[in-house]
Amino acid sequence: MENYKTRISVNGHYDPTKGKDYNNSRVANGWTLQDYIWTEDSVRNITTQHGISCNEYSSNHKTTENWVATHIVMLDFDDGKVTTSQLLTDQKNWSFDSYIYSSQNHQKPKEKNGKVVSKCDRLRVLIPLKEPITEITDLKAVEGYFRTKYPTIDQTFMGRSRYFAHGTTEISSFQNSQGPLKWRELPGLDQFRQAIPKRSWKRKTEKLIKLSDQILDADKKTIKVKDILPDKPIYCPFCGLSEDRTGDGHNAVIKINDAGLPFLFCSSCQSRGMGNKGVYNFHKLMDMSID
Ligand SMILES: [Zn+2]
Repeated sequence: MENYKTRISVNGHYDPTKGKDYNNSRVANGWTLQDYIWTEDSVRNITTQHGISCNEYSSNHKTTENWVATHIVMLDFDDGKVTTSQLLTDQKNWSFDSYIYSSQNHQKPKEKNGKVVSKCDRLRVLIPLKEPITEITDLKAVEGYFRTKYPTIDQTFMGRSRYFAHGTTEISSFQNSQGPLKWRELPGLDQFRQAIPKRSWKRKTEKLIKLSDQILDADKKTIKVKDILPDKPIYCPFCGLSEDRTGDGHNAVIKINDAGLPFLFCSSCQSRGMGNKGVYNFHKLMDMSID
């Protein structure tokens, strides 16, 4: 396999002679994206001499909002449940290149949230990508793939503002015979895309009612919005069956405003400050008369 180029963000303020206590507070800024070649020497250098992030940012400031792309995947195993021997066996079967190495706390007791956690294998796996991930849905789908494969993985491993302190070569296993991961070809990516809770990444927008929406009437039977008569009791499509409600009866109606346009009013949303004082407008009012 020919050597190929990949990219990773490197922090200019990071000091590899110091530990996480020193470095963690110094790496919010100072990030630049760098090219490097997938060879054992350069990969060892990048993982043991630098503070790194798999992500590209729109400025030198590492934040979720500044995330532009992910150029490489880092698997992070911090609790010993995935062991060195398991990972080295898995690596032999992967159809993509990878570098397995030990983190600073590998086989050391460490303190987490004031508690001492006993020593165990603490490992990372760097996986180069054939092409960067630039869509959050793709990022979440790839994350879902690896989470399913390794349920005990550190859940922040693909965080958009995640960085990794330098590791060690106590465990060090480099592969370059397979080429970078073609992440678009990972099995089941569409399933993982569908499993993404939309509210976690979609910008909040005004909730609008559509004539084609299905709503529950007072008898909890499904009815299309366009078939509901004004002032007929219905269940609010946003909170009707929600556990946040105090009651469990129908709580909404469709009304017609002074301009002759319909809107939905929900008394529960009103009392919880949802919607615009419990009022939800309709989508595409221009089309109303056609339907
Ligand atoms: Zn409601």
